Amino acid sequence: MTEAITEAADRWSWPELHDGQRAVLREVVVHGSRSRADLARRTGFSRTSLSRLTRDLVELQFIVEGEIKPRSGRGRPSEMLDLRPESAHFAGVKLTGEALYAVVTDLHAVVVERVEHPLPASKAAADVVELIGRVVADFRTRHRRLASLGVCLAGDVEEMNGRAEVIDSPFLGWDRVPLQGMVEKVSGLPTVISNDVQALTVAHHWFGAGVGHSSLAVVSFGAGIGAGLVVRDELVWGARGHTGKVGHLLVSNGETAPVCDHGHRGCVSAWVTVPAVIANAGAADLEDALRRAEEGDPRAVAAVEGGARALGAAVAYLVDLIDPQKVIVTGEGLPMARLAEAAFHQGVEEHLDPSSELGLLDFWDFDFADYAWAASISAIRRVVQRETT
Ligand SMILES: [Zn+2]
Repeated sequence: MTEAITEAADRWSWPELHDGQRAVLREVVVHGSRSRADLARRTGFSRTSLSRLTRDLVELQFIVEGEIKPRSGRGRPSEMLDLRPESAHFAGVKLTGEALYAVVTDLHAVVVERVEHPLPASKAAADVVELIGRVVADFRTRHRRLASLGVCLAGDVEEMNGRAEVIDSPFLGWDRVPLQGMVEKVSGLPTVISNDVQALTVAHHWFGAGVGHSSLAVVSFGAGIGAGLVVRDELVWGARGHTGKVGHLLVSNGETAPVCDHGHRGCVSAWVTVPAVIANAGAADLEDALRRAEEGDPRAVAAVEGGARALGAAVAYLVDLIDPQKVIVTGEGLPMARLAEAAFHQGVEEHLDPSSELGLLDFWDFDFADYAWAASISAIRRVVQRETT
């Protein structure tokens, strides 16, 4: 019987862990229960070092010594080390242009609570940050071991003097907002700010549809389109974290092709994004566009099939570039790709290098709370990854 997690009288905070402790904890967080022998093999620590590290983590209540499993063949029975998922909680927030989606996850990234609020009408950073502060304060009343917070949004995020700033978030109209410092001040929690698609990519790699694959492309499309890439089990970061920009690749150059906000005729964004599909179909919303396409309305059919083909083209470019084991396609626009799946595959075939191959493909059902879940995983990742990376 394991003793209950002890609550500190004062506000609990995540302890400072050194790289060795992080490495062992990360293995158990990401891969679940592990035997000591397995952990020693995967982390490269000696038995003595590993005993010390696991003892530290047991004392900190993050893991517990579990059942003894007999090992096949010779050798001593191996003791399992199990994660205590309830030992820490993480908050995740996704901001869209209209709403805030927030979740609380445990240390194994399981969502234990979720909420949704409309954004303040002003959409001003100060007002949105104040809302985040209220949501976190409310979470804290029920989750006393809230370790940290992740916030993600569409747009570019860069580090300036060690703090993350939102360089450009078109749907919020923000430019150069020092969001990390602002959110940490109101929430009192260490905060990770991420681009939403990059956060979602890490989330799928560690806990979602990408588990077990060392190379991965995640494409998400809705109000915009973006991609995240994993190569050799690491998120591809680039020089500034601005990877996966497939939105303005040219996919069709006919005179009748639609034009994007930046004036490109026939680029991916001019076809694929939800606003583009709606405009190209002359519809009221995405549902209306899809319904009209199903009924055979020629304009809606052209918009939906054109969108799905352009999405296929974007996927083909990514496959050609990194040769991933799996491609995950998700986002608010996913029903469009499902309805016109043949056109999507046609788009892939038309653009794929003859020697490339689309491996596993997963159309992942989308919910805005997925992004909040992903943001919380960015927060988990920050506390278990090596400090030097
Ligand atoms: Zn464009």
